[in-house]
Amino acid sequence: MKLLFSTLQKITSGVVLQAKFDTTITDIFIDSRNAIIKKSSLFIAIKGIRHDGHQFIEELYQKGVRNFIVEAPYQFVEQFPKANFLQVPNSTLALQQIAAKKRIGFQGKLISITGSNGKTITKEWLGQLLQGFYNVYRSPRSYNSQVGVPLALWPVSNQYDYAIIEAGISRKGEMESLEAIIKPEIGIFTNIGTAHDEGFSDLIEKTSEKAKLFKDASTIIFCTDYPEIAHALYGLENIQDKNLIGWSFDDNTSSYFVEVEERDNHTAIRLPFNENLHIFEIPFKDYASLENVTHCILCLLHEGIPSKLIQKALTDLKPVSMRLEVKQAIHQSFLVDDSYNNDLVGLDTALQFFRQQKQQQKRVIILSDLLESGLEKEELYQSVAERIKAEKLNLFIGIGPDISANADLFPEQSIFFDSTEEFLETLRENPIKEAVILIKGARTFRFERIAKLLEQKVHGTVLEINLNALTHNLNFYRSKLRPHVKTMAMVKAFAYGSGSHEIANWLQFQQVDYLAVAYADEGVALRERGIHIPIMVMNPTRESFDLLLQHNLEPELYSFEILTDFINYSRPLTKKAKVHIKLDTGMHRLGFEAEEIDDLIELLLKNTHIKVASIFSHLAASDEARHNGFSARQALNFKHMAEAIKKALNYHPLMHILNSPGISRFPDFQFDMVRLGVGMYGVDATSMHQDRLMTVSSLKTVVSQVKHVKKRESIGYARRGLAENDMKIATIAIGYADGFDRKFSNGVGKVLINGQLAPVIGNVCMDMTMVDVTDIICNAGDVVTVYGEKPTIFDMAESIDTIPYEILTNVSTRVKRVFYSE
Ligand SMILES: *Cc1c(COP(=O)(O)O)cnc(C)c1O
Repeated sequence: MKLLFSTLQKITSGVVLQAKFDTTITDIFIDSRNAIIKKSSLFIAIKGIRHDGHQFIEELYQKGVRNFIVEAPYQFVEQFPKANFLQVPNSTLALQQIAAKKRIGFQGKLISITGSNGKTITKEWLGQLLQGFYNVYRSPRSYNSQVGVPLALWPVSNQYDYAIIEAGISRKGEMESLEAIIKPEIGIFTNIGTAHDEGFSDLIEKTSEKAKLFKDASTIIFCTDYPEIAHALYGLENIQDKNLIGWSFDDNTSSYFVEVEERDNHTAIRLPFNENLHIFEIPFKDYASLENVTHCILCLLHEGIPSKLIQKALTDLKPVSMRLEVKQAIHQSFLVDDSYNNDLVGLDTALQFFRQQKQQQKRVIILSDLLESGLEKEELYQSVAERIKAEKLNLFIGIGPDISANADLFPEQSIFFDSTEEFLETLRENPIKEAVILIKGARTFRFERIAKLLEQKVHGTVLEINLNALTHNLNFYRSKLRPHVKTMAMVKAFAYGSGSHEIANWLQFQQVDYLAVAYADEGVALRERGIHIPIMVMNPTRESFDLLLQHNLEPELYSFEILTDFINYSRPLTKKAKVHIKLDTGMHRLGFEAEEIDDLIELLLKNTHIKVASIFSHLAASDEARHNGFSARQALNFKHMAEAIKKALNYHPLMHILNSPGISRFPDFQFDMVRLGVGMYGVDATSMHQDRLMTVSSLKTVVSQVKHVKKRESIGYARRGLAENDMKIATIAIGYADGFDRKFSNGVGKVLINGQLAPVIGNVCMDMTMVDVTDIICNAGDVVTVYGEKPTIFDMAESIDTIPYEILTNVSTRVKRVFYSE
């Protein structure tokens, strides 16, 4: 169904502020960073808590966007004489109304999935399985929110036989609006757990809120082993008219009792459907996968697909890599490896992530034929080429007969290969250097071979950084700030161990106002990797002034000595140099003291070629309630001292004193900016909000070997580990040189292997450690979690009597960092 700009007014009950031309709307976007610049694309300006889409209208107009939906009251239309403007009372609602209209026009079947976990995987698998028989659309990644669902529905068209849409909510009342847009015919309720509980009074309320998605669905598939789900569904009106497929792993009296039998390298399940017993072999063993796949199988059986064909499709089912990762590649390159479904929607999400990677200027995309069954080839590659052209690449590499046949559609800097093998040969001889590279290939092209060639080889220990969790935590702290309070994100010490420029790049994309590093070198490294937002350097030295000025880095100045040095050094400059004045209010580390303020003012007034960008201080004990009085006095002293300087200067430097625990505990001391550190990395030093933060970094390694050790034998150096009985041990590939402290020796440290904790036995070695796995099923190659969701950084820190900060920053630089975004 086509929507004209002129029809949007009726759909949204808005007011046309300006209509310059009419056009069919081809694209909708709400994030200016993912702008689709076409005369037929529509930008919907949404007001968020921290960001207001209206601020980007001018920029987008300059770039060529010509259709806007704005929220009332909007008064700037005259500045944009060539554009169409529709004003609505609520632009999120308008987006939803437009999506609902699209939905009505869809004649295929709509399947919608909700639940606590497994939504995205179930959606992906169901999509993979159905694709063998039909044209299937599925919402991209986890587009499941109040704005995500309408954006996901926008591309749905009648080329598709099925659309699978995921829906997630985080508070009461949200599902009603999603239901009104999605209107599913078939529903899958995956499971219910405790995630996102803040928005609901209890589990029962949360479950019944989610169940509202299926108000008008005719079939609902769910697992009765979660009694809350069955209970919630029975609370729906007209439940007796619905076809309920409630299956169980546990209850053998259930009419959909699913019997599980573990085989060598797969699992067999037996389930009754339509009076027949069906047996399937599933290439997974873990409970979560079995649950997800059972939902899919029941859905396929319900759609009348013969079990023989289902079995065939199941054999090809692959674990879904849900994440987009940036990895370090050889020749100073960075690799975004996306093995996600290679259709247009998948391509869009990959490009979006790719665009955010600014580590190198040179940009390369390697793309295979697309598996988009809904479009004519010519039309399909036209759309692909349009997207590729918009990326302004240095090199595009197309692999496969179809994309090669359409080579003339692509930009000049393109080369084409018929097969992955041909390309690999060329790549071995002519490596790609110093570039950000996106590889995206349909499964049959086996692009993992390209990834393997490009990736930097490392030993088996990696620090995984979840960028979405970082954003979540950042936004959690931002939500505590008054409007207009800025955020300085601390990326010192290799971003608390997480990897500096990758994190800085991501934070820049998340629009933090400032970054702070400890040393000039760290700042320079960020500038060289495309970080352009302001950076404060906390420990400048005289020797580094040149670097600072060259790279537009702003020093923290804390004494007359360093201030005078800097004043003299920067005097000949034509441009004012920005500096940050540090005050000592009780930490007694660095900073000017109260009795020095008058002289400081005098010096600053005499030297107007330096500009004070901010005045700040640091709380010594912001995390501890017993020092509240002290913290308050620090803040008060800071206020007096800083305001005296400000008054004399006659301009307005930013004032700031709070670090992460301070943000949690002292909303009154926010001043103009806060300095967010450890909290963003997932650690609440006050423990007040730990359950609201997400885990950002997980340190993982692998089992190198499993051994059986006889009673009374010893294990490791100095024979410190002793087998009191016959035991099984695993040697894992991490040691104190990786940052796994030697204090974890002899049972102090515990790591997670296949869901169970294994204590360290004997002394931690330089590159390896032995752990007791007598009661754990494990093999060489199994993944070992040193810290992450479990054990947590807190558990680790506590066991060796230190603080989480030290655990975070101790991870050695030889451990590879892998960044991903879900
Ligand atoms: C490290 C640091 C912070 C951040 O502290 P967190 O406790 O990690 O939030 C803030 N200000 C200064 C001066 C710092 O050195």
